[in-house]
Amino acid sequence: MNRLLKKIPTPLKGKIVERKEACRMCDSKSGDKIGEVDFWDIKNSDIVKCEKCGLMQLDPMLTQEETAKGCFAYYIEESLRTSPKDQGKNLLRNFRRGFLFGMSLKRKKIIPQQILELGPGSGYFSEGVKFVFPNANVTVMDVNKEVLLINKRTHQFNTIESIPETYDPELENKFDLIIARDIIEHVIDIGKVIKNVKAYLKNQGIFHFITPNGHEDVWKHYLTYNELNKKSELLINHVNYFDGKGLLDYLERNDFSSLEYYTYKLKTTRRGRGWKVDTKLMAPVSQQKNSSFYIEKEFEKVSQENFDKKDVLNKWYIHKNRKLATYFLSWYHHANLITLAPELNVGHEIYGLFRVTKK
Ligand SMILES: [Zn+2]
Repeated sequence: MNRLLKKIPTPLKGKIVERKEACRMCDSKSGDKIGEVDFWDIKNSDIVKCEKCGLMQLDPMLTQEETAKGCFAYYIEESLRTSPKDQGKNLLRNFRRGFLFGMSLKRKKIIPQQILELGPGSGYFSEGVKFVFPNANVTVMDVNKEVLLINKRTHQFNTIESIPETYDPELENKFDLIIARDIIEHVIDIGKVIKNVKAYLKNQGIFHFITPNGHEDVWKHYLTYNELNKKSELLINHVNYFDGKGLLDYLERNDFSSLEYYTYKLKTTRRGRGWKVDTKLMAPVSQQKNSSFYIEKEFEKVSQENFDKKDVLNKWYIHKNRKLATYFLSWYHHANLITLAPELNVGHEIYGLFRVTKK
């Protein structure tokens, strides 16, 4: 423990600056400048940490068009790095996670009927949840038509083409459960997204998210700027870096109360990864990546291989009647995680399960 604590960095500090845009969570106009980033070849921006709420954000933020372009380029770049075999494994992993998450809800006597997933990716997480709650009705929201098509075709989910910031009055009070896994670090206006999640949930509805712990996620940019006085590359499009306490306070101010809130994945923390100057961790800024090149020239190389749901889930079904395995897995889900309070700013990922009480 002592060795771990030694690796925990001092709080992120930078020069206090006037922000170009106000904080999207608390409207504060000033903050600590903690990095300078290039988002592909699309935009140069700063990362500023809010003085009041601790949220670290791009300042100025990306526009919707810039986000869409960079995300698509990243999707192509990442797909080219992942073999079809690994892609298939990832689908099954997401299904298993959805199943285990569903089991954890069941243990809490939470039985969702109407589910909304924001940014569903392959849809296999919600498919896993639906395995536990076969009568549940799943709707997915995404800005990308391809993603929606895959979700409709593979899982027969209802689809909504939208960004989560856009308020849709027809969705008001409609859902028992809203899922946002690895989404909120990407959204342009986190304040609007949380308000919409609240509006779309029924009273006592559940909000589940995972998101990187901002304090670990931002460290590379922080060190590149502070130790090397250089810009870093923002290929992965994380535009929000959450502070555990700030995020909790914000959710509580918006009438969410926590059922589960912790950080997990401590491997990176234990190794102190990202918390020392290591040039290997820094993106090669000199090779600024050309987004149009990926979109125009590389897209055709991306494997269009269709994964048949039966093949993906085949391994799962072999085991599904083995009760012992199921119980073991669902125990493992929680027991394997050494979890910490997000307020400690340690651990790679934040897990949240919240209930909203509408007044
Ligand atoms: Zn703020």
